[in-house]
Amino acid sequence: MDSALSAPQTVLIVDDTPANIEILSSILGAEYEVLFATSGREALDLVARQIPDLILLDIMMPAMDGYEVCKQLKANPQTRNVPVIFITALSEEADEARGLEVGAIDYISKPISAPIVKARVRNHLQLKRYRDILEDLSARDGLTGIANRRRLDEFLAQEWLRGRRTQSPLSICLTDIDFFKRFNGCYGHAAGDDCLRRVALALASVSRRPADLVARYGGEEFVCVLPDTDAAGAALLADKFSDAVIALGIPHADSTVAGHVTISGGVATAIPTEESSAAQLLEAADRMLYQAKKTGRNRVLAPLWETVHC
Ligand code: GH3
Ligand code: MG
Ligand code: MG
Repeated sequence: MDSALSAPQTVLIVDDTPANIEILSSILGAEYEVLFATSGREALDLVARQIPDLILLDIMMPAMDGYEVCKQLKANPQTRNVPVIFITALSEEADEARGLEVGAIDYISKPISAPIVKARVRNHLQLKRYRDILEDLSARDGLTGIANRRRLDEFLAQEWLRGRRTQSPLSICLTDIDFFKRFNGCYGHAAGDDCLRRVALALASVSRRPADLVARYGGEEFVCVLPDTDAAGAALLADKFSDAVIALGIPHADSTVAGHVTISGGVATAIPTEESSAAQLLEAADRMLYQAKKTGRNRVLAPLWETVHC
């Protein structure tokens, strides 16, 4: 599991009265990491840099009130799922309804009662943690623990759009374990599973940039997505993927290309455009992989030209 899922959760307190922030900090500070902002603008700026697990939001603030802050948070896909609790002196039914309408999950009324704040925050943060765990699980491959196909598709679509905006190259490397059917036949399915886990971790440890993603594409195939990476950079990394698998030294007596487990790979690079798609980039990598298999396996083929025009 992601280590972020076991770290202390973060609560952002937004209030234009510092004394209120102090009270809430003293109630929550021992259990959670507390961040604070004294205006709506400051809160939005802070959230753009660090997404908290929960926001306690004052409603009546000058310049930008809590309703507006909440609306903006809910309109942004990055922050849409952060639970917001309004802390307010307003107690009319209409105020409460309006807060819930703009997306708040709960209300705490002033004057602040420490046990109520503690209990409500604890409950909502527990729900948030369960949701984070589910989200994390749904993006991971059950066998290897790395990103799954679903996450890959999502990531690739997002990087394709980003590449279109920034006009920067996007590379992918599609890899496939050589003679894996024979490996299963020789050593058994459980050993096959273990091999897949080790290969996945080896590939994941090669790509060190936080922007990269290594995913299980299916069966014994893995995809590495390399944003802002040109063809030359991708070819370099692809060789490292291959070397890392060889370095595992997993015996494969039934392989005709080596005495240990090897991979073949295909690389493709594109500067994303509106007319082309991420699926075409994957197809281009698949064609290179096919060539790598056809010309002997245990090799990674990258196109000689700079960019594949999908
Ligand atoms: P090539 O070198 O041409 O890639 O040959 P190959 O045998 O690796 O390829 P093929 O596509 O014929 O076989 C892939 C094998 O991968 C067949 C399947 O049993 C195995 N496989 C797929 N998923 C899993 C898995 O989760 N665990 C195990 N142990 N084996 C798997
Ligand atoms: Mg295959
Ligand atoms: Mg294979």
